[in-house]
Amino acid sequence: MPLGATDPACTIGAMESTAAHEAGDVLRSAPPRFGLEEAEAIAADLFGARGRATPLVSERDQNFRILADDGRGWVLKVSNSGEREGVVEMETGVVRHVAAVDATLPVAVPCETRDGAPWGTIAGSGGARHFVRLLPLMPGRNGSAIDLSREAIRDFGAVSARLGRATRGYFHPMAGRRILWDVKHLPELRPHLPVVADEPRRALVEAILDHFESAVAPSLTGFRAQVIHNDLTFDNTLLDASDRVSGIVDFGDMAHTALVLDLVAALVSLLGGRDDPADLFAAAEAAIAGYASVTPLEDEEAALLGDLVAARLAQTTLISAWRIGIYPENAAYLSSWDADAWPMLALFEAVGLPEMRRRFAAAARRVPAWPAPGATDGRPRIGEEALLGRRRRVLGSALSALTYERPLHLVRGEGARLYDPDGRPYLDCYNNVPVVGHSHPRVVAAIARQAATLNTNTRYLHATVVELAERLVATMPPGLDTVMFVNSGSEANDLAWRLATTATGARGGIVTDWAYHGVSAAIADLSPEGWPRGERPAHVGTIPPPEAYRHSAAGAPDRVEGAAWVEDAAARLDDAVADIASRGFRPAAVFIDGAFTSDGIFAPPPAYLRDLVRRTHAAGALFVADEVQAGYGRMGDGLWSFEAAGTVPDIVTLGKPMGNGHPVAAVITRAEIVDRFAAETEFFSTFGGNPVACAAAMAVLDVVADERLTANAAAGGEEIRAGVRAAAAHHPAIGDVRGRGLMIGVELVRDRATREPDAALAALVQNAMRERGVLVGTTARAGNVLKIRPPLVIGREDGALLLRILGEALVASGA
Ligand code: PMP
Repeated sequence: MPLGATDPACTIGAMESTAAHEAGDVLRSAPPRFGLEEAEAIAADLFGARGRATPLVSERDQNFRILADDGRGWVLKVSNSGEREGVVEMETGVVRHVAAVDATLPVAVPCETRDGAPWGTIAGSGGARHFVRLLPLMPGRNGSAIDLSREAIRDFGAVSARLGRATRGYFHPMAGRRILWDVKHLPELRPHLPVVADEPRRALVEAILDHFESAVAPSLTGFRAQVIHNDLTFDNTLLDASDRVSGIVDFGDMAHTALVLDLVAALVSLLGGRDDPADLFAAAEAAIAGYASVTPLEDEEAALLGDLVAARLAQTTLISAWRIGIYPENAAYLSSWDADAWPMLALFEAVGLPEMRRRFAAAARRVPAWPAPGATDGRPRIGEEALLGRRRRVLGSALSALTYERPLHLVRGEGARLYDPDGRPYLDCYNNVPVVGHSHPRVVAAIARQAATLNTNTRYLHATVVELAERLVATMPPGLDTVMFVNSGSEANDLAWRLATTATGARGGIVTDWAYHGVSAAIADLSPEGWPRGERPAHVGTIPPPEAYRHSAAGAPDRVEGAAWVEDAAARLDDAVADIASRGFRPAAVFIDGAFTSDGIFAPPPAYLRDLVRRTHAAGALFVADEVQAGYGRMGDGLWSFEAAGTVPDIVTLGKPMGNGHPVAAVITRAEIVDRFAAETEFFSTFGGNPVACAAAMAVLDVVADERLTANAAAGGEEIRAGVRAAAAHHPAIGDVRGRGLMIGVELVRDRATREPDAALAALVQNAMRERGVLVGTTARAGNVLKIRPPLVIGREDGALLLRILGEALVASGA
């Protein structure tokens, strides 16, 4: 019966002295047992809330739904007699704090009693004392993980992270109480192992416990920790009609513990009931991506995520087995936890615990792409016109024009998605720089960590620059043993040019017809794409790209493959050598972009490159493999594009994807070539090889390997090309589909017979795709080749979206 409200101004000391007679251990005290009429009386007397009571489940408290005749509703929460008042104060405080920090998080702020107190107190049987709270009934329904779309799962993950952000500024001494639902206390449940009757199940839980104690617990102590909800599951959330979280309840398990345990609790709930490993890990990826979009995981958290999920499942089974023994009347509810926990543990065992760990870690280190909605609405955005004007005024006319007829204003990137100020996503099939996906959490964390620690230059001893150089050398063929760090692809090529001219004593260069290699004066000469008025510098010779589609050496318009074609194409190098010789130049270097990106994207047979290198050396020149576009696994058959051909360049230049957007570039060559250069001059670049740039570059190498992105590029590229080829059956404007890995060229023509380029159509299609949320570019001298070059994290659903939108754009463009 109601005793009246507590003193709202009570202190921590007072609360400690009122600690319940059962040492405050709510898991050991019986839940309250009030009747429905008693509940109605409590709600009315204490809070003035009149309505009909119906029972709700609870592990250790007693909850009722109170519905008034006028439609209003509340939850009456009668605490376990073992609950301490300080805990009630903490729970009330955290909800108020969350509501103040992030008003969009749907938490139920408790109603005050009729006396204005934050909770009430009543007497139960046997002199027990119960604290009572009345919470507004939250809208929505209880969800089921199985019915949720990936987007809804992702959203749930994001809500979990947002709740963590909202509680991080909150503290209450009771948050340090020992709560068995805190995964870090799992070892304390070991004595309950014998309660698990089934022998194989017991062995599995024991194995998880053993591993937790030896390999997880020692690291867990060092994880970032704060006050967290610790139980944001389907039991404690409500979902609206579109499956978004509309209510967050029950802070009863909150604790000051490892932040990542909130994600762990959400995962256990979201993954329940999934018996197909592919489905389970895809759902895990979605939830983790949502979480990481708000709070990127730290490497250590990612590494142990799978173990923590297994630990929470083991904890669930142990607490459940133990509690059913004590409270058989609550068995139906208590064993409902196991219903999901055991099959999930069995699935982990079937997959293999090490593989399970690896897959969670891979998911945690990746923020996968997400499907984009359809067409944009074309509204001009606030401030955009003004921004355009300011840009024009201050950035000058030489800067290349903005892409797309309606310039794209972007404010955020994640995985293969870019977002405009309205939050509209665009599938990025254009940008090769963010090779591991936009804002990859591991790269971001590596940059932030190093920037917060030290950033200097290569005039000081620093381990990271040495380690990065060693790692790069290890990826190269034997002989390419020396690395020089710079800041851009242009600088890398400029340095390569200086090395080559010094080593050979020659001053001529050879590039493909429409190549682009960079902005410096020397490299602009070697970039026909940007030659002023198209005028060729005297020392530069050009060769046609290895273009099978239009190659007419055999006099036939049909695709010519095989040795004759290869030899004929490569022999053009000899022509170019002769050509510059006639102007008095010997070639110092032949620069080749392994993807022939500016020329129109070509993937010649390996023999072509081998022949080109042989002829380069025969002419006394060095072969420079410009991997600025083609490197870092994009071509799908190795980290570097020249690997597939089995060639060994003299100089390799790296840029763009090397730091996933952070400026860092490199030249890799033989020591003797550098020695010749060093004999004449010294080399130093202020920013080149700085610790932050190197940290970014190291993280990129890690992610490319850990997420198996080269294999993804191979498989994804093949699938997309096959899809475009299939679409060509309905779209005669598609003349050729080519490339390797995720470097894809789609050549658009007016007429398949004449192969006349259709640049106007390419521009229309590019813009129509942008309007529909997919970004591609155009390339080639005629500008008629669609350039499809996404971050390597693009997924299968993304590929399907790209194909669908390409088809729609072709139709919309009248093709
Ligand atoms: N080489 C190639 C093949 C490139 O595509 C580019 C840039 N588009 C560069 C070099 C120059 O790189 P950066 O713009 O970083 O100087």
